[in-house]
Amino acid sequence: MVHTLAEWQELAGKLNFDGRPFINGTRRDAASSETITKMNPATGKPLSRIDICGQSDVDEAVSAARNAYQNGPWRLEGVAYRQEKLRVLADLLDQHSDELALFDSLEMGKPVREAALIDVPGSAALFRFYAETIDKVEDSLPITPSGSTAMVTRESLGVVGVIVPWNFPLEILTWKLAPALAAGNTVVVKPSLEATHSALKLAELATAAGIPDGVVNVVTGTGSLTGQAIARHPDIDMVAFTGSTEVAKQLQISAGESNLKRLSLEAGGKSSNIIFADTENLQLAANRAAFGAFYNQGEVCSANSRIFVQESIFEEFVDLLVEEAKGYYPGNPLDPEVGMGSLVSKKHADEVWAAIEDAKRSGQILVGGNRITIDESDAFIEPTIVTGVPLDHILHTREIFGPVAVITAFKDENEVIALANGTPFGLAASVWTQNISRANRVASKLVAGTVSVNTVDALSFTTPFGGFKQSGFGRDLSIHALNNYTDLKTTWIQWA
Ligand code: NAD
Repeated sequence: MVHTLAEWQELAGKLNFDGRPFINGTRRDAASSETITKMNPATGKPLSRIDICGQSDVDEAVSAARNAYQNGPWRLEGVAYRQEKLRVLADLLDQHSDELALFDSLEMGKPVREAALIDVPGSAALFRFYAETIDKVEDSLPITPSGSTAMVTRESLGVVGVIVPWNFPLEILTWKLAPALAAGNTVVVKPSLEATHSALKLAELATAAGIPDGVVNVVTGTGSLTGQAIARHPDIDMVAFTGSTEVAKQLQISAGESNLKRLSLEAGGKSSNIIFADTENLQLAANRAAFGAFYNQGEVCSANSRIFVQESIFEEFVDLLVEEAKGYYPGNPLDPEVGMGSLVSKKHADEVWAAIEDAKRSGQILVGGNRITIDESDAFIEPTIVTGVPLDHILHTREIFGPVAVITAFKDENEVIALANGTPFGLAASVWTQNISRANRVASKLVAGTVSVNTVDALSFTTPFGGFKQSGFGRDLSIHALNNYTDLKTTWIQWA
């Protein structure tokens, strides 16, 4: 539900921030008693204290998860049992929507409106989706020599570590949790230190939904300590990760040096949005291009932050896009009318700002380009569009993860395909054209996990999401995500 600014502020004042881990069905202090203070990036003021879990806390969470997997009803009771609990959990998410939305908004700066209208209902819907899907997965009996039968069954993996980022704290956690749990695994979650509380609340709601103790555990803390304790744990069977490419690479090393645990890695991106001159509705293309660049403050792995426009319509398109960008002007994340919120932290705003300052030296700012202070916090940056920077500039090559896009004119199809594919990433791309042959041709040549035609960053929980190249491997969402959390087992029976 969307409230007024005053109502959100009142609700925020009543929130209970408890930053202790959730292990085996209860909250308790981390063994080290070490905590960090989490700031609200939109005000620069302290928000909560979060425990830093070390090896012994992670060991305890893994042991609870192993026990729940081996001996508890979660795996052994069968699918109908899990389906019922996951549906109750989905209902509880809806009932606690205000609280969950506020946790994410206050911690990482996104508009609470988007968390309440999109992230929380989307997360609840995803638990329902996997509750519905899990009993549609069929095992098989392949043809074998006479006198024998081979049953090929899909089995859960065991204990799954879930390491997630801050940009969609609840939603991306749910992308992992819902299929992992539906398949019968138990989990140890490590949320980002920048956005911890919605994960902790979700674990409490799982218990309230009747999910047995030890099935969902949340350890709070840093990547280098808590995350590494998961990545190197000898009794974790698989790690599902979303985050940067650098950390994804580190996880491959950690998995290889420990127990060869499986990995699903959703990593970074640098996605292109290609607008051909024959695009029928340029206004719509500009509207969606602004969404692709600025939604969630541009802190989106699949943000379409490289915009390529065919040269004959370049000026016309720039004018439309500049107008659309103004709709994303930042402000108080609790204001239901705000265009964007604050960046996740002052430190991250400094990094995004440095990239914009650098772009000013070689390119031209078409709109935005200013850092602004609201409520004594300078973690706000205007939606910014830059043109004229060279192709080896960081705006073209690196994930900036902020509200800044680079727009470039192109001549023809082959040139723009090469430009779009010229990054180490392969997460997403968009193409605008009225020519169906061109749409198909270009889409087939773009190296990207998702290509959107005549829209931007299309997504549904019924379709897989993930990347090629250094955007990682494994797919979230859809029935295919169950492949991450299960594997095939063959049982031969010799009859004669
Ligand atoms: P990050 O990689 O810094 O951190 C992600 C998670 O990994 C956090 O929980 C962090 O604490 C943990 N971590 C950090 N170092 C670790 C280590 N050495 N060992 C184990 N765990 C460690 O990413 P972030 O800054 O939280 O999020 C932004 C990044 O996430 C961007 O690169 C973005 O593209 C990516 N992302 C990708 C997708 C996708 O689906 N491909 C979706 C959203 C975000």
